[in-house]
Amino acid sequence: MIHLHRRDFLAGVGQAVAAALAPWPLAGERGKTRLILLGTGGGPRPRTANSASAQVILIDGAAYVVDCGDGVARQLAFAGIPLSTLRHVFLTHQHSDHTADYGNLMWLAWTAGLRTRVDTWGPPPLEKMTRLFFEMNAADIGTRIADEGRIPLAPLIHVHELTAPGLVFQDEHVKVTAALVRHPPVVPAFGYRFDAADRSIVISGDTAPSEELIALARGADVLVHDAMFPAGVDRLVAKVPNAATLKRSIMSHHTSAEDAGRVAQAAGVKTLVLSHFVPPDDPAITDDMWLAAARTHFRGTVIVGKDLLEIE
Ligand SMILES: [Zn+2]
Repeated sequence: MIHLHRRDFLAGVGQAVAAALAPWPLAGERGKTRLILLGTGGGPRPRTANSASAQVILIDGAAYVVDCGDGVARQLAFAGIPLSTLRHVFLTHQHSDHTADYGNLMWLAWTAGLRTRVDTWGPPPLEKMTRLFFEMNAADIGTRIADEGRIPLAPLIHVHELTAPGLVFQDEHVKVTAALVRHPPVVPAFGYRFDAADRSIVISGDTAPSEELIALARGADVLVHDAMFPAGVDRLVAKVPNAATLKRSIMSHHTSAEDAGRVAQAAGVKTLVLSHFVPPDDPAITDDMWLAAARTHFRGTVIVGKDLLEIE
């Protein structure tokens, strides 16, 4: 019986009976599902202002990491999340600001004591990336197994390539659903929804305004959405030689903060969290400006994401 059905079932039973029947603690006793932003800047360029895309959802002591931008393992350490609690890794799409530390996260978690299964989920070529990562680092991994008595790493990792939207998996803790979002030319690109007993959380990934994401986020408690400030994009691309092409790319596959508010309003979410900021570190764009843009069309709560901020 899956979690949500079980709750419905328990609602019709007396509390004492329910407690006796329950093989695991009830939702309120299990601890709140937590969401911590690990990296909130858009783009792979290392910055002092913020890290690249990553967030962690904590459900019953297990860590579900969504995206693995540069520094994700260290950001988990700063957030106080033991790397040995890593259980699931989700990649929204194959862009380096979301994938650069995918292999490093598992490898470094293993050095930090990971001894349990980790499932990884995301678009192709996830299987090849994983296999080649372990092959590339076989010298270190083999040495630590022989010299430090660690268990083999590769058998712990179970890779699932996703090519279509729909149910990703469900267990007694959470149901995870994916939607195809609009991030050309990167196909497929996914947004993910996590339905836990006490909370529903949606991570948009990178996308232009997307009907598919609105459907995925319908009625969710929290929507973490990609956010662009169009007036800042010219200043951002002015730093690079491929400015015109980069601007066209950015404008075509991200969502302005104002449109993120439209999406949140259409989906009827309670809280909109702006993240994956483009530009990621322009001091001329203040938090109040991001907020005002998102609030133009959204009447719920808006939060300007920050690295290591927990969304309550
Ligand atoms: Zn992207």
